[in-house]
Amino acid sequence: MAAVTEQAPVTDVNPKLDADPVSCVPWPIPPPNPALEVKYTKMFINNEWYDASGGATFNDINPSTEKVTARIAEASEADVDKAVAAATAAFQPGSPWRKMDASDRGVLINKLADLIDENKYYLACLETLDSGKPYTHTFFMDTTGISKLLRYYAGWTDKMHGKTVPVDGDYLSYTLVQPMGVCGLILPWNMPLITMGMKLGPALACGNTVVIKPDENTPLTALFLASLTKEAGFPAGVFNVVPGGPTAGAALVNHHGVQKISFTGSIEIGRKIEEASSKTNMKRLTLELSGNCPNIIFADADLDYAVEQAHQAVFMNQGQMCTAGARTFVHEDIYDEFVKKSVARASKKMVADPFQLYSEQGPQISRKHFDSIMGYIKAGKEEGAKLECGGSRHGDKGLYIQPTVFSGVTDEMKIAKEEIFGPVQCILKFSTIEEVVERANNTQYGLAAGIFTQNVSVALEISKALESGTVWVNCYNAFAVQSPFGGLKMSGKGKEMGEESLREFSEIKTVTLKLPQIQNISFKSNAVRQYSGST
Ligand code: NAD
Repeated sequence: MAAVTEQAPVTDVNPKLDADPVSCVPWPIPPPNPALEVKYTKMFINNEWYDASGGATFNDINPSTEKVTARIAEASEADVDKAVAAATAAFQPGSPWRKMDASDRGVLINKLADLIDENKYYLACLETLDSGKPYTHTFFMDTTGISKLLRYYAGWTDKMHGKTVPVDGDYLSYTLVQPMGVCGLILPWNMPLITMGMKLGPALACGNTVVIKPDENTPLTALFLASLTKEAGFPAGVFNVVPGGPTAGAALVNHHGVQKISFTGSIEIGRKIEEASSKTNMKRLTLELSGNCPNIIFADADLDYAVEQAHQAVFMNQGQMCTAGARTFVHEDIYDEFVKKSVARASKKMVADPFQLYSEQGPQISRKHFDSIMGYIKAGKEEGAKLECGGSRHGDKGLYIQPTVFSGVTDEMKIAKEEIFGPVQCILKFSTIEEVVERANNTQYGLAAGIFTQNVSVALEISKALESGTVWVNCYNAFAVQSPFGGLKMSGKGKEMGEESLREFSEIKTVTLKLPQIQNISFKSNAVRQYSGST
C-alpha cells in the first residue's frame, strides 16, 4: 500500500488531493479540527460532573498517534452505585420525569437531536479523534445517525399504547405499556455514537432512566452528549455516564437496582452478562454480539457493482463492523475475475490520517486489537490462503493496517471461522446454491448476510434459508432506523431500531377490573333504537 502522498485518490469522493481540502468531497463539509479541545472528562451523574472516587483516571488514547488524548475519570463500583441511585430517584413515581406527558418526552428528545445537529461539527471531530474513524464518516454518518435515531424514537413517545382485551366474564381488562426503570447501556468502541442512539432513543422514549457505560477506548462523545442532555433540559438523574472498563461494566450488570442491560460487544462478555443477570435480579437483556457474515456473489451479479459493494462490506469502518461481510463467497464462474478486481480496489484504498478528507480508512482502535488482526493475517498465510495484497502495517506511526485480501480461503481456516474485525477480505469459492447456503450457515454466528444476484427468486429463497437476523440483497450495510436489527444464534438476542426496539425497553402490565353487568338495562326493547333516533 503506497503512502497517501505518493498515491492518486481513487474514489469519486476525493477527486483532487492537492485541492483545497474542503473541495475534496462533493458535499459541503467544514474543514476538520484535529486540535479540538476535549471539554468533558469527568463522570456525569444527576446532571453534575464528578471525579471518580479516589480520583482514579484512565488514559484515552488517540489511535492515529497512540498518544494520550485525555485522562478520563474511571468509575468504580461505588461510582456506579451513585449513578444508579440518581437514576432510581429520577424514576420514582411523582418525579418530574415520571410526571412528564409522553408527548413532552418526545419534545425533549427532539431538543437533544437539535443540539446534536447544532454541535455536529464538534461531535464529528471528537469521534474521529477518539475512534480513528474518518472525519467524512463521522460527519456524514455517525452524527447524522444518532440524530435520526433520536428523532425517530421521539415520534414514538405518545404512540405506544396497550389494548383492551375481550376477556371472559364480567371484567374489563386492558394492558399498559410501561417503562422498566433504570437501564444500563453498555457501548462498544466501533460505533460509539450510533450504538448509543440505538439504545438511548427507545430507552428514553419509553420513559426509562439510563446509566451509560461507554467503551474505555471511546468515552468522549458520550460525555459530550451528557452536557447536551443538561442543556436540553432533561431532569437530573435521567441520563448518567460512568466511563470505565470491565469493572464499571460488571458493576452495572451486577447491580440490583438496574432492571435492564442493553449491551453491544463480544460474545465472551455477552455470556458473562447472561450469567451475572441470572445470578442477580434476572435483568431484561438485549445483546448485540459478534458476527462473521457471509456475502454471496452469484455469477449473474453486476460484477463491478458487486466488487465495490463487497469491498465496502468488509472494509467500512476499518473493517471493525459486526456486520462486516468478511466471508465473501464468489461463484466459480466469476471467481478469478472477482478476485482480480477486488485486489485492484483494495490496493487503491486511501489509508490515511482520519482527519484528512480523502482518508477512506483510519487506524485500528487499539494496540491490542491491531495485534489481534495481524495475528489473523499471519494465520491466514500459515494455513495456506493466498495473500493477494496487503498483509502488513501501513506506515510507521499509528495503528494502520494495509487493506488485505486473501483468495483460496477454505471453510476450515481460522480466518474463515472466526471474526477478524479488521480490514481483511477472505474470498471463498462456491459452485451451487445448496452448497453455499449450507456453508454460509455453518457457523455459530447469525448477524447479517448479503446476496448479489439479478435473479429475484434465488434472492428471496436464499433470504429465507440464511440463518441471520438481516439479509441485504444487492446492497450491504443498508441500515435504516425504521428496520429492526439484531442477531440470531450466538450473535445475540433482541432487536435494536424500528418499532421492535420499544418492546426491549418496556413492560406490558395487565389491569383487570371486576365490572358486573348492570342487570336492569334491557337491550332487547325498542327503547334502544328509539333512543338512537332510528324508526
Ligand atoms: P467487549 O465485549 O470486550 O466490550 C464491549 C463493552 O463491554 C465495553 O464497554 C467494555 O468495557 C464492556 N465490558 C467489558 N467487560 C465487561 C464485563 N465483565 N461486564 C460488563 N461490561 C463489560 O467488546 P470488544 O471486543 O472490545 O468489541 C468488539 C466486539 O463487539 C466484536 O465482537 C463486535 O462484533 C461486537 N459488536 C457487535 C455489534 C452488534 O450490533 N451486534 C456492534 C458493534 C460491535
